[in-house]
Amino acid sequence: MKLAHVILDIPTQALDAPYTYAVPEEGLFAAACEGAGDEEGADAQRDYAVAVGAAVLVPFGHRRAIGFVVDIREYGQPGGPDWPAEVDPAKLKAIVRAVSRPYFDEEGAACAQWLSERYIAPLSACVRLFTPPGGVARMVRGRDGRWRLEQPIVGEVDDRWVVPGPALAAFSPRKNAVKQAQVVEALRGGELRVAELAAQFGAVSSVLKALEAKDVVRVVRRRRMRGVQGAASGSVTDCNRQHVPSAKPALTAGQAAALSAIERACDAGCGRVVLMDGVTGSGKTEVYLQAIERVLAQGRTACVLVPEISLTPQTVGRFRGRFGDTVAVMHSRMSAGERFDQWDFIHSGAARVVVGARSALFTPLANIGLIVIDEEHEGSYKQDSAPRYHARDVAVWMARRSGAAVVLGSATPSIESLYQCAKNPLWEQVLLPERANGRPMPEVRVVDMAREFAEGSRSMFSAALARGLQEELSAGRKAVLLLNQRGFAKFLLCRECGFVPKCPHCETSLTYHERGNFLICHHCGFRQATPSVCPKCKSPYLKKFGAGTQRVEDELRVVLDGMEGVGPDVPIIRMDADTTSGKGAHQRLLEQFAAADAAVLLGTQMIAKGLDFDDVTLVGVINADTQLQLPDYRAHERTFDLIEQVAGRAGRAELPGRVLVQTYESDAAPIRAAACYDRALFLRDELPKRRLLGYPPYVRMANVLVWGAHEPDVQALAKEIQRDLDKAVHSYGGQDWAVLPATPCVLAKLRNTYRWHVVVKCPADADISRVLLPYFRRRKPDKWVNVAVDVDPDDL
Ligand code: ADP
Ligand code: ZN
Ligand code: ZN
Repeated sequence: MKLAHVILDIPTQALDAPYTYAVPEEGLFAAACEGAGDEEGADAQRDYAVAVGAAVLVPFGHRRAIGFVVDIREYGQPGGPDWPAEVDPAKLKAIVRAVSRPYFDEEGAACAQWLSERYIAPLSACVRLFTPPGGVARMVRGRDGRWRLEQPIVGEVDDRWVVPGPALAAFSPRKNAVKQAQVVEALRGGELRVAELAAQFGAVSSVLKALEAKDVVRVVRRRRMRGVQGAASGSVTDCNRQHVPSAKPALTAGQAAALSAIERACDAGCGRVVLMDGVTGSGKTEVYLQAIERVLAQGRTACVLVPEISLTPQTVGRFRGRFGDTVAVMHSRMSAGERFDQWDFIHSGAARVVVGARSALFTPLANIGLIVIDEEHEGSYKQDSAPRYHARDVAVWMARRSGAAVVLGSATPSIESLYQCAKNPLWEQVLLPERANGRPMPEVRVVDMAREFAEGSRSMFSAALARGLQEELSAGRKAVLLLNQRGFAKFLLCRECGFVPKCPHCETSLTYHERGNFLICHHCGFRQATPSVCPKCKSPYLKKFGAGTQRVEDELRVVLDGMEGVGPDVPIIRMDADTTSGKGAHQRLLEQFAAADAAVLLGTQMIAKGLDFDDVTLVGVINADTQLQLPDYRAHERTFDLIEQVAGRAGRAELPGRVLVQTYESDAAPIRAAACYDRALFLRDELPKRRLLGYPPYVRMANVLVWGAHEPDVQALAKEIQRDLDKAVHSYGGQDWAVLPATPCVLAKLRNTYRWHVVVKCPADADISRVLLPYFRRRKPDKWVNVAVDVDPDDL
């Protein structure tokens, strides 16, 4: 008899282990279904086999639950150390039945297991990554108290098509059969969907039946792909519109060298990593395309990750242009149905290239030869809920398992990746220091805002920036202005007593909104009217600090209106979280900017990447330094990256570009270094600090998060965990390990929960998870206080 390991699909914070069930044999099947306490919908009765990757219905306590099979073995043939060799098959319960096809294979199951151990995360959450968008079957309790199996609402949809049959050519309808004649006539032009025929001619089912009987036509079911035929803007269709076959340019010498490094990595077949360190516009994407072409020619497939925000139709269009209909796309702005269909397309084996956000790694793409991660320094590659994985690390693991290669691309590689290239023989760095079209990188000028202030200016636009805008816009060219929004929300401060209104639930300062004149908490949405006097000391001198994009837009309007040769007609296109929330809004704004003559694109971080406009000649960074003060070890790296990235947006074509960086800290190393494109200068300042303070890449960290509604409980548990981990580290003999004292998080209160954390540090080459894992496996979840581990946190 066969036994299966099943991971129950029940959300938990515990490090759950698989349960062992007997696999029902054909005959057992009916018996197991009978005598069950639950009723199941008729449509749930499709026959699926119990196999690795399939969702199954299993008895669990007094009820039934859904789980996923991760292993199947013949009884008496124990495999791994976790496999219970001594289970008593007589006592085992049997799987009731499978309720889905396999969503993943043995390799997916192994990956889920690895994720769970590497990131100290529940297996159920790890397995969930591999399931199709739109959900899986689940048990729901009806009003009568009975449990029922509910299949996911999103699933395959079929269209019925009418295809010409062998008798069509010679067929002539009888005289009075008008509708039949019409249908036959329409079909002579080729196959049609039943729905299309019905829309033209009314009810056609009896006509089709008659024609089918005479072999004139056949009616067949075909899978429909949502989002590909006539869907709304922002969908997969948009990408199709750009589906123009693109010519393959001859590579520059640098590109050719990069490509051959990638080819060597692919041929080595042992999970090698190539870091393509190339300035914006150096032709990295072209290298990806040609590397993928070779991988496909060898019969393997490729997965391309790009940051969610740069998954624009242009990006996808470049891949579709080269690889046509074999490209699947996955991103969160698509509807669940569209994403499901893309997933299904991959599952069917027809897709050869997947382009998507970080989750695309977990789609059922078989036989991967190359994984590309574009803009590898991006923070969005780290997931901020369990499992808190980093796509780069997962890609490297997957590539090693499958003998694929990984290509990381960036103009500003992460310090971690640069470090790997220096230390790890499997990693190689290739440089593309010049733009593919030979254009120089734009000149960057730092504008000292402290001096502007001392000279009496109170505007957020320096004289230099205003002059630059005037020159470019009056000549019919475009500008991009970046407002670094991290740590730059607008808040109220009493000038007499220093009081700052805070959210009663989150203890963060409330953000002031000009339109509507209210204060709002951006974490929980708490909202109140703006007070006219200080709630604490009754002083009327409340000052508004900081500025949101809205305020900047208003002030910019005033500045532009007064400019000679510019005036009120020049459009300002604002791109921030507010203006891009709707489906396709992001894309519409970019199109608007592209179509305009002179125009300003004003936005937050989201404008710093992926934009490729020929006529942008001026880039302004309004506040380069606001991020520097954040209590985050990566704040300086992020500031450096942001300036370099945004500078790359200027002067990409014939027109030379310039960049103005406004800052109150013109001496800060990240800003000085970014202004002269000098990464070495930045690293000379940054690395010694990281080493001294004990931050990556010199140490590894794990951040244990503890949160709950009652602060004393949270604090007590955090301290208990600190003591326990201290013991665990000691008994492991971890020299150079440190368990830092439990402290409140920087955001100490959020949505009415109190947050504490315990940070563990260890040497860079130590296996931090392996040491912490036994403790977290043993720990019983607390009813009131939540605990989660963030291994290799992205910020701290
Ligand atoms: P990156 O991904 O590094 O930003 P891209 O691949 O987008 O760079 O290339 C920038 C521009 O240069 C694109 O318009 C691209 O078509 C063009 N380009 C890339 N490689 C070449 C080449 N070898 N010859 C001519 N143009 C190229
Ligand atoms: Zn006051
Ligand atoms: Zn709040």
